[in-house]
This record gives sequence, C-alpha cells and structure tokens, in this order.
Amino acid sequence: MHFMSEEQNKPIIQKCEKCGKENETVHANFLLYGFMVCESCKISETLFPV
Ligand SMILES: [Zn+2]
Repeated sequence: MHFMSEEQNKPIIQKCEKCGKENETVHANFLLYGFMVCESCKISETLFPV
C-alpha cells in the first residue's frame, strides 16, 4: 500500500506541547486544530481567538 502521507514517515508524537503529557487526544487535536495539545489544554487554547 502506498499512501501519500507524511504520517507514514514520521512517528506519531502524542505529547502535549502545553503540559508535556502524552495523551491519545494530542494527535487527534493536532489534525483538527494544528496544535499538539491534549484535550484539557485544547480547551484553554480555544479560549483565545485564532
Ligand atoms: Zn496538555
């Protein structure tokens, strides 16, 4: 299988940039919002206008 995806070439880092905790929601939030943040930190991020 050949997928044109950078995800295939890089290890999925699930470490939150804010609190440094590893969480499975971090990668999902990165795909959705572009921030490597966990769920709780994402809520803090959304408090600020982009
Ligand atoms: Zn966090």
